[in-house]
Amino acid sequence: MNKKQKAYAEKINELLKAEYPEVKIALEYSNPFELLIATILSAQCTDARVNIVTKELFKKYKTPKSFIDIEIEELEKDIFSTGFYKQKAKSIKNCCSELMSKYRGEVPADFDKLKELPGVGRKTASVVVGNGFGIPAVAVDTHVKRISNLLGFISSDDAEKIEFRIKELLPPSEWVRFSHLIATHGRNVCFARKPKCNECVLSKLCPSYKKQN
Ligand code: SF4
Repeated sequence: MNKKQKAYAEKINELLKAEYPEVKIALEYSNPFELLIATILSAQCTDARVNIVTKELFKKYKTPKSFIDIEIEELEKDIFSTGFYKQKAKSIKNCCSELMSKYRGEVPADFDKLKELPGVGRKTASVVVGNGFGIPAVAVDTHVKRISNLLGFISSDDAEKIEFRIKELLPPSEWVRFSHLIATHGRNVCFARKPKCNECVLSKLCPSYKKQN
């Protein structure tokens, strides 16, 4: 690993930390199980919309068993506005069944075990271990994917390659927060359609400065 590339990534990280000192995960949850469900619902949906839905959802369903016990049609109705509701309802039910059968209803604090659950990929597993259990992980969402390329960390659309690249560039203690920093920057400044390069704290370093406008 080139020292210059690491120093560059660390500088980006420092600038973003200074810009968003209070950054945290946008999804609302009160335990790892709620975080797991919220993250499954967040696929192709904004975190703000998921928070509106889970506010009521988590009053109604508190455990994996409660999701298993209801008819799938009812769950579909409850999560309808997050989009792809049929697939998500199926994933949630299958995931909860496996949590019950393999882990006595507990969410495992282990990336590999989480990743094997139905409806859970690398991103969801990273979000849950990182934020639910404090285990270093890099969650690659659409913002992290796009902005990692704009910043020149990598030239790839492959989420797994991006995850490993960020892990090479930054120390583990920074991984979870860095995902949030990039996602926050993507929501506030570095928009996909028209990034606000003039207002960007990374403008002096970013190789894509004004190239997307
Ligand atoms: S300079 Fe522009 S393209 Fe680069 S990170 Fe900032 S907003 Fe995005």
